[in-house]
Amino acid sequence: SSDDEGGEEYLFKIVIIGDSAVGKSNLLSRYARNEFNAHSKATIGVEFQTQSIEIDGKEVKAQIWDTAGQERFRAVTSAYYRGAVGALVVYDITRRSTFESVGRWLDELNTHSDTTVARMLVGNKCDLDSIRAVSVEEGKALAETEGLFFMETSALDSTNVKTAFEMVIRDIYTNVS
Ligand code: GDP
Ligand code: MG
Repeated sequence: SSDDEGGEEYLFKIVIIGDSAVGKSNLLSRYARNEFNAHSKATIGVEFQTQSIEIDGKEVKAQIWDTAGQERFRAVTSAYYRGAVGALVVYDITRRSTFESVGRWLDELNTHSDTTVARMLVGNKCDLDSIRAVSVEEGKALAETEGLFFMETSALDSTNVKTAFEMVIRDIYTNVS
């Protein structure tokens, strides 16, 4: 679509998925508002947040969706995935079970979206390296096998949060522009 100056405008829907308590809501609040909540409960009321970045002199808006706790019931609705062009699949590097769930989340993503969706595997809570239960190499290897970008992040200390979201946004942009 075009705006009044004749430039392009882009709006990309990105979903965040992964097991409960891996840090999905905090990754989003860190990226969109530079906020972290140590005692966050399931997000109530907030469906998505919009963040704009400039690429090639164009305004690119990312509408980033949070599950609002639906994942606890193992039933994230198809409406959540509808129209998504990017996805962050998050696990917690200190809880191996959340890494073992990644395959299931990828299956669900594949069921609800087409294969062109830009995907990133995110190992969150890398500030907790001393109690790590999943190695960087294992994360990388899984991402390579599944054809995903990979990054370890910390919503707590901000490591790689902006980079992870913006890699996905830039990849989507590259594919559509
Ligand atoms: P969600 O259920 O996936 O949305 O997870 P939340 O964002 O609600 O986070 C679950 C818990 O993990 C909360 O107590 C957060 O404070 C904590 N948490 C989230 N991200 C990080 C992180 O990067 N490092 C650490 N140490 N704790 C985190
Ligand atoms: Mg949440």
